[in-house]
Amino acid sequence: MQKNLLAWYRVHRRDLPWRRTRDPYAIWLSEIMLQQTQVATVIPYYERFLKEFSTVQALTNSPLDRVLKLWQGLGYYSRARNLHRAAQIVVSEYHGKFPQTTAVLNSLPGIGRYTAGAIASIAFDLDEPVLDGNVERVLCRVFRIKMSPKETATHKKLWTLARTIIPTGKACFFNQALMDLGATICTPRRPACERCPLRDICQALKNNEQNDLPIKKRRPPSPHYDVAAGIIWKNNRILIDQRKPQGLLGGLWEFPGGKREPHETLEECLIREVREELAIEIEVGEKLTVVKHAYTHFRITLHAFECRYRTGRPQAVQCADFKWVKLAELENFAFPKANEKILSVLRQKYATQSAPAIAATHPEL
Ligand code: SF4
Repeated sequence: MQKNLLAWYRVHRRDLPWRRTRDPYAIWLSEIMLQQTQVATVIPYYERFLKEFSTVQALTNSPLDRVLKLWQGLGYYSRARNLHRAAQIVVSEYHGKFPQTTAVLNSLPGIGRYTAGAIASIAFDLDEPVLDGNVERVLCRVFRIKMSPKETATHKKLWTLARTIIPTGKACFFNQALMDLGATICTPRRPACERCPLRDICQALKNNEQNDLPIKKRRPPSPHYDVAAGIIWKNNRILIDQRKPQGLLGGLWEFPGGKREPHETLEECLIREVREELAIEIEVGEKLTVVKHAYTHFRITLHAFECRYRTGRPQAVQCADFKWVKLAELENFAFPKANEKILSVLRQKYATQSAPAIAATHPEL
């Protein structure tokens, strides 16, 4: 298995920007960005990020807001927050040098067992295993493992297997070969077995089960929520607020609003949410747009309304911060994807017309 796979990798390896370096910082960055994200999406983000923060020290010196802005659109923002925190630990506790054991790497924020194994094997040439979705699939098929890899016992077994099969001193290329095989040949649907270097030993192929493995665990359907968001105008400026640092989308900016309760209309929901978040009163105007968005564990329909500010002095009651900004200044803030869609409708609308009547100077101010 090892010989065939390494020979195949020498010829067919993917030429990716993070494959041209052994710098643990760059490898760490690429592995974090690649979590739940396609390679093609990651490449421009990776290049932009390294251009601005070429070292772990440079990343440490940047405010989190700037890191989130560069991450905008990549999703799973806790990755960016953890990256920033881990960089600070590497600089303050390890003099800017990445620790070289998986146990210590694993203790850094955002670095799980897989990422620790990837950094240790690729950057430091240690014989440490990796197990991501691609590797799991290859192992389940080659060794005909007929239990879901999501089951704890199977997962444990796969980690042991991934370690056992590493050829001594060659984890760096062997791990990457397994990942590439899973990404390009042993794909989730219709694996290209006829071109696979492991076809002679693959137990799934032998039993014609390559399309049935790995066994999938059924996921319960994800819940759906209606969410209302307000484009609150005052003196030709719009009110945005920043989410608290913890939790989903922490630290990002957004249009105020929140989840509709069962008994509420969307307008009632928006008035209540803005009151709770910022302690001000608004009048809800026309609906601007509706955006559907899916997160990992739930889906939302986001209803965006243009609103008029009425009374009250904004306070950051249930948010980290707030700002009144001009439409053109919104691009300087990091917004979650669903809010980005609202933003683009807003920009389009006011590219050809002036701000709405509700944006006019407020008599109280
Ligand atoms: S022979 Fe087919 S199923 Fe088996 S490892 Fe190769 S691509 Fe995957």
